[in-house]
Amino acid sequence: MNKFNTIRDIDVKGKRVLVRVDFNVPLDGEKVTDDTRIRAALPTIEALLKEGASVILMSHLGRPKGKKDPKYSLKPAAARLAELLGREVKMAPDCIGEEVANMAKELKAGDVLLLENVRFYAQETDNDEAFAKELASLGEVYVNDAFGSAHRAHASTTGIAKFLPAAAGLLMERELSELGKLLDNPAEPFVVLLGGAKVSDKIGVMQNLIGKADYILVGGGMAFPFLKVRGLEIGKSLCDGDLEVPKSILAKAEGTKTQILLPIDVVAAAELAENAPNENIDVENIPADKMGLDIGPKTVAKFQDIIAQAKTIFWNGPMGVFEKKPFDLGTRRVAQAVADSQARSVVGGGDSVAALTQAGLAPKITHVSTGGGASLEFVEGRQLPGVVALSK
Ligand code: AMP
Repeated sequence: MNKFNTIRDIDVKGKRVLVRVDFNVPLDGEKVTDDTRIRAALPTIEALLKEGASVILMSHLGRPKGKKDPKYSLKPAAARLAELLGREVKMAPDCIGEEVANMAKELKAGDVLLLENVRFYAQETDNDEAFAKELASLGEVYVNDAFGSAHRAHASTTGIAKFLPAAAGLLMERELSELGKLLDNPAEPFVVLLGGAKVSDKIGVMQNLIGKADYILVGGGMAFPFLKVRGLEIGKSLCDGDLEVPKSILAKAEGTKTQILLPIDVVAAAELAENAPNENIDVENIPADKMGLDIGPKTVAKFQDIIAQAKTIFWNGPMGVFEKKPFDLGTRRVAQAVADSQARSVVGGGDSVAALTQAGLAPKITHVSTGGGASLEFVEGRQLPGVVALSK
């Protein structure tokens, strides 16, 4: 693991601290509909303010593609942050330029300023050096707390670290420590649960964890290419990507301690629609005109048994078409099993986290990651550019 400073190692008293946060929150017009990411940044912001810093926050929101678009303004995030902090949050009209530089200069200890969306400039995603330097000129210290963007080499996540003393925020530190424990001598049995639509997104994780995990339980649409490789007919089920990939994964696992378990039954329907007529079918009998939309009850029972014995769990991706009832059941039951287990559990990815949150189970998870893509890349064993940039 890279060695880096955290906010406990640096002196911020009386300084302007430029903090990259992940305020990429869902909006309904002018309102933040889920403030989880804003809340996740509060410990760092509050700690810096307590130490006598003034805080300049920067973030991206959505994909405005390098153009100023009011639809992607961070103003609603400033309003929500002010409510959560119980103090004023000044909103900058831009993220660079003279007016913003003046606002930054006028900040006093305890003040909070939120810059406008850094992705209003294409230079952000291009990791443009001059842009990074201009952002850096606003502060005296750089803190990165945006774990969810740490897998991106952008100006505000990597380029900027060249120009200022840099440190990790508390959220970044916690994410790296919790995810790091998965790769560094995890207590066994180590059970990995993967789902979702695309094999391609999760292939790196499977590759890295073969030989480390005791079980890799595969659900969701990504199970079908594996079933097909095993010689089964999968009807109209989703089958993403080149079959050589799941084939090589199954071959790689052979002779290692890692058992890759695929569904033994599925909930199948003729169409992908809410409340579509459906039946439980063993995977050997999927008819040509049907598609598997969730793991079936026998698979759920088998996965529950294995999860109950786990000492370490990593879960990413839904077990079925979680958005459409009743194909959410497999995901919900797995979520309950993970929450009930005594294992150290780490969950990442939008749908798996949503399943836990909706069921009120998130507090029973050891660590709910704020970064779907970033957590996958970390568990793949890849270096995250945002973390490398903080390295001493
Ligand atoms: P991903 O982004 O790869 O994690 O995939 C998430 C998506 O996978 C969700 O929108 C689910 O609806 C979808 N999904 C899960 N299981 C299936 C399935 N059996 N067939 C089709 N889509 C699925």
